[in-house]
Amino acid sequence: MELIGLTMEEMEKVLVELGQPRYRAYQIMDWLYKKGVGDLGEMGNIPVSLRKQLQNAGWLLPSVRIRMGLSAQDGTKRYLFQLRDGQEVEGVFIPEDKRKTVCFSTQVGCGMGCAFCATGRNGLVRNLTAGEIVDQVLRIGHEEKARISNAVAMGQGEPLANYDQVIKAIRLLNADYALGITVRRLTISTCGLVPGIYRLAEEGLQINLAVSLHSTDPEKRDELVPVNKTYPLTLLYQACKDYAETTGRRVTLEYTMIKGENDREKDLQGLAAFAKGWLSHINLIPFNQVPGTTYGGSSKERMEYFRKHLRQLGIPVSIRESRGEEVWAACGQLRAALTFEGNGE
Ligand code: SAH
Ligand code: SF4
Repeated sequence: MELIGLTMEEMEKVLVELGQPRYRAYQIMDWLYKKGVGDLGEMGNIPVSLRKQLQNAGWLLPSVRIRMGLSAQDGTKRYLFQLRDGQEVEGVFIPEDKRKTVCFSTQVGCGMGCAFCATGRNGLVRNLTAGEIVDQVLRIGHEEKARISNAVAMGQGEPLANYDQVIKAIRLLNADYALGITVRRLTISTCGLVPGIYRLAEEGLQINLAVSLHSTDPEKRDELVPVNKTYPLTLLYQACKDYAETTGRRVTLEYTMIKGENDREKDLQGLAAFAKGWLSHINLIPFNQVPGTTYGGSSKERMEYFRKHLRQLGIPVSIRESRGEEVWAACGQLRAALTFEGNGE
């Protein structure tokens, strides 16, 4: 049983069952989430007898262990985490001035099978627990001695396919007694699980939604993002618009630019038509090379061309800086890096 991932209510219950006063819950939460300790032994103001009680009852800490950290020139750092069952996931630390962002994983592997993504290559292994999700942010914050200001679910996995644990983790990342990250600085990225988008809209959270669009051509999107066969573009379009309307939050449309696949003139028109007239924002993403695919990235000029034309149409658009590429921390490369290490290459 994992201590990290418990809500205040759950922690109080654990303590009451152990015959302990309720206020101890606040103290333990403080050690777990504010101080980020990874060991019961470090909880100075908690009596040794209570620590023993927790240990004997089978409560474990931490949920993830840092196995390795790799820094890039730009300050981005990729972390490899080991889970209790030996599985591995990755998280990324992205410092930019005051903003300290953690990109975290929500599953081991991914079952969505997007054609250009390294994470999905070997399918879904398992869902992460809320504790394993939150602990990635905690470990990175502790290691970097940084107060994490932003967190994005853009590591391994499809967050909305692990809905309950991801939402529990989001609530802990946000809770004042836990990490205290403003919900407006939390982002969930989905490949387009339409029912999940509607469910999320009803949570009453002001969380940012990013949708991996990548193509507005039905056949091409079937190929690139196969979940399109289940939730086609017309449904996705409506879900995005409804999310923006219900929450008042701008929805980010992620568009990884792949040469000859989604960067033609008619793709530009399709993208503009999809994004126009509602609270959207397009994020053009440079393609990161993935071993074993024949896809290639669009040129910088082509990306600039898209940006210029979208902007002229009055559509908010940005080009994502691809950070940390030299340590394989960039999007879609996490799993590939693992495979490489596994091969000893
Ligand atoms: N599963 C979620 C979140 C993780 S992926 C999702 O798909 O949205 C984070 C982003 O990286 C997604 O927009 C994804 O489509 C994109 N991505 C995947 N592989 C990539 C690659 N090789 N190059 C650039 N972006 C990639
Ligand atoms: Fe999964 Fe996202 Fe990769 Fe698609 S892009 S396979 S949904 S992690």
